[in-house]
Amino acid sequence: MIDIHKVRADFPILNRIVNGKPLVYFDNAATSQTPQVVIDAIVDYYSNYNANIHRGVHTLSQEATDKYEQARLKLQQHFNANKSYEIIFTAGTTHSINIVATGFSSLLKKGDEVIVSALEHHSNIVPWQMLCEQTGAILKVIPMNEQGELRLDVYEKLLSEKTKIVFVNHVSNALGTINPIKKIIKKAHKVGAAVLIDGAQACPHIKPDVQDLDADFYVASAHKIYGPTGVGILYGKEKWLNKLPPYQGGGEMIKEVTFEKTTYADLPHKFEAGTPNICGGIAFGVAIDYANAIGFKNIEHYENELLEYGTKKLLEIEGLRIYGTSEEKTAVISFNIEGVHPYDIGVIVDKMGVAVRTGHHCAQPIMDFYKIPGTVRASFSFYNTFEEIDVLIDAVKKAKMMLG
Ligand SMILES: *Cc1c(COP(=O)(O)O)cnc(C)c1O
Repeated sequence: MIDIHKVRADFPILNRIVNGKPLVYFDNAATSQTPQVVIDAIVDYYSNYNANIHRGVHTLSQEATDKYEQARLKLQQHFNANKSYEIIFTAGTTHSINIVATGFSSLLKKGDEVIVSALEHHSNIVPWQMLCEQTGAILKVIPMNEQGELRLDVYEKLLSEKTKIVFVNHVSNALGTINPIKKIIKKAHKVGAAVLIDGAQACPHIKPDVQDLDADFYVASAHKIYGPTGVGILYGKEKWLNKLPPYQGGGEMIKEVTFEKTTYADLPHKFEAGTPNICGGIAFGVAIDYANAIGFKNIEHYENELLEYGTKKLLEIEGLRIYGTSEEKTAVISFNIEGVHPYDIGVIVDKMGVAVRTGHHCAQPIMDFYKIPGTVRASFSFYNTFEEIDVLIDAVKKAKMMLG
């Protein structure tokens, strides 16, 4: 069970007044809010043991190194990676995907095929398009249906021994659809293809088990899981991380450097060139602890109730359509009102303190599918309330009256 009063007290930002009204934060799919324990961890780092890691013999450096490596172990445990060095710290999901896509340029040849889904965020499309341009590989797309679900029947036909990698998100940020990734991975493995799962939108709601999923790569951003911006992870199976070349050259990622030849460091350091976001990594670990203390089962259950309530209430508004109606979805509601531009709704509800996102949500192909410029997206978290949904409903009704 979620003790909503206790939970809300953990997030200082939820006390904010916006345009004279209490903040109603429904833009959780873009970034989640940060609990006090995570803020405290950031302050503690810079107040007490800010130092560069791994290379220092002095006390502060050792403290920072220990905490940073402990965070890696927490993430290993959370994602159930087999080895701690299969967890690479990155700057976030986009960075993680680019490491893999760039690395694959040395593994692909002309005529090879890679498969993307119609439900992807631009950051899981563009790096692969760049890869295809560079290598002559061909990009194939798993289409979606009207409910916002992937067409697995078509996916099966796209797979062949030419397929080298498939990249699909666990949850769509634009529609909330939870994709059947375990099935998708199994089918790809039958033809020998690797699979990268973009977990950016899943991880705030679901605890993924990378070994059970048998994912080859799984990526996420801390800022969507109650942590800070600028840090994330790339999980990769050891055998894949060994196959990929390093992404960036620099300090920390080398074993030995001479002007004749440089040898690369072992995992995970091979992919962690330069001074990392030390404080961010440590705070990410604290955020994961916080979310686990709340409990992902509790989070899922409570957010589903919010989703059900919000969906029912919004559909009572005449002319309102919800995009993304899969049975399997997280607490994201993407909608439009007939004859009204989503941007205008966003501006008016903001005047009433309600933060929603409007636009294409970095997923233009989905908007093209529905032939719309964008949607209004309300995305809920476990610290939101039913009363806040009522405020949203009133605000949307008001916007409709003013604009319609
Ligand atoms: C947010 C998001 C991304 C991009 O994450 P960054 O933190 O901006 O790198 C990629 N994919 C999905 C599904 C997302 O929700």
